[in-house]
Amino acid sequence: MAAAAPGLAVGKPSQDGKRGHAVTNDPSTMTAPLRDIPPVHRFTTDPVVAAYAPLLGPGTVRACVQAVLEREREARANGCRPRSFEQLRSAVLEELARAHSAGLLRVINGTGVLVHTNFGRAPLAAAALREATKMGTGYTNLEYDLVAGARGNRYDRVAAQLCELSGAEAALVVNNCAAAVLLVLDTFARDREVVVSRGELIEIGGGFRLPDVLAKSGARLVEVGTTNKTYLHDYRNAWTERTAIFMRSHPSNYRVVGFTAAVATKDLAALAHELHVLAFEDLGSGALVDLAAFGLEHEPTVAEEVAAGMDVVAVSGDKMLGGPQCGILCGRREVIDRLKRNPLLRALRVDKLTLAALSATLRLYLEPGRLGDIPLYAMLGTPVAALRERAARICATLAGAESRCGLRCEPCDSEATTGGGTLPLSHIPSAGIAVRAAALSPDELARRLRNRRPPLVCRVEEAHIIIDLRTVLPEEDAQVAAALHTVTADTGGDAA
Ligand SMILES: *Cc1c(COP(=O)(O)O)cnc(C)c1O
Repeated sequence: MAAAAPGLAVGKPSQDGKRGHAVTNDPSTMTAPLRDIPPVHRFTTDPVVAAYAPLLGPGTVRACVQAVLEREREARANGCRPRSFEQLRSAVLEELARAHSAGLLRVINGTGVLVHTNFGRAPLAAAALREATKMGTGYTNLEYDLVAGARGNRYDRVAAQLCELSGAEAALVVNNCAAAVLLVLDTFARDREVVVSRGELIEIGGGFRLPDVLAKSGARLVEVGTTNKTYLHDYRNAWTERTAIFMRSHPSNYRVVGFTAAVATKDLAALAHELHVLAFEDLGSGALVDLAAFGLEHEPTVAEEVAAGMDVVAVSGDKMLGGPQCGILCGRREVIDRLKRNPLLRALRVDKLTLAALSATLRLYLEPGRLGDIPLYAMLGTPVAALRERAARICATLAGAESRCGLRCEPCDSEATTGGGTLPLSHIPSAGIAVRAAALSPDELARRLRNRRPPLVCRVEEAHIIIDLRTVLPEEDAQVAAALHTVTADTGGDAA
């Protein structure tokens, strides 16, 4: 939707090329060039400029024009050569495109990183969006028990599905996985101790540091083991009557390899129960299915961790689960019940649209043969040969443009990754398009593709850029071709 009309014509001359007259200040005191600066309305009435008004608001459009004119005024006062109306108009359109890209835009992800936090993580299944639309356009029984005709519980809406998929007795959904971790720590470990292996004291993207979240919750962190080795007796030795939780955190974005030792989940859970402390796992990515079926390394699933005895497991909804942003807690009934009684839950709760999208996504796991309807799994399941074919088709449409613009596009093999703090070592065989331009550096090429509408983000290598097609939706191929068609013709601003 964001690819609406404006910004499509930077650099193109306007219909109206007449010069305007400055209406600022007292003309008699101004030097001639200053007086020649076109008035604001000459820009705001330009149809391409005006098309931004419904997107940004007329005030912002006016401010962008004024900013450009102010810079021009200063430049002229400093003796710079005056820019023409057309040049100023191009500058205004660039300014507007910049302001517009500060909003939320649909982006083509050519990086090959499937779950990219910068790009909003998992694309949602069509069924999830249909359900969100259906629930969002009317009233729902979000917190209403239709059988009793009385207030109900919003968290029960997806609990049955989550229990089915995880084998847990109960489940709860909050705003995101960080919120889930905070809720568990606040509920069970405020002013008490949480034992964590040194190898799992992680920072994930965006500054989520486990020790900081622990501190915020009022829990005290007790580190055990070393970076590469932690044994069961390390946990036992760390136990005191102040210990509330043995916490395991999934080292999501890195891996300690080589000379390592970690405690098996079932051993840690058994020791926790022997010592009457809570066994809690922050699983992060949250695979509900075995990723080995997609040629990836095995990632512990929620069901496996619950079966191994963890009292409660936290995962993200929008990583490998492929759903909306949320944090999912699966665990024993009494643990989940205590979490539900924490007043903090009110501040971490999810809305009806999230619950609708999550529920529809979980249904795709429950119905046999529907996993491929989740975009992430469709992408993961696409054979490399199919990606190569798409690359060849896109390149074929560019044959003419190549010689004209000094652009060279070739199908190439590539490696995609799951990203998003999941499977740091996984490399998924992939294919895409290698692009080089005679007159442009790979960085400049990438910049121009980013600044188009819709923006296309790619991988920059030493001599060329790569557009990895595993993360490009098949219906976006035409837009990729269009982007490459015009990229060498761009003025560097926003164009199509
Ligand atoms: C991603 C991740 C989180 C944070 O999840 P959000 O849903 O972004 O809040 C927490 N812990 C681990 C291990 C993660 O991988």
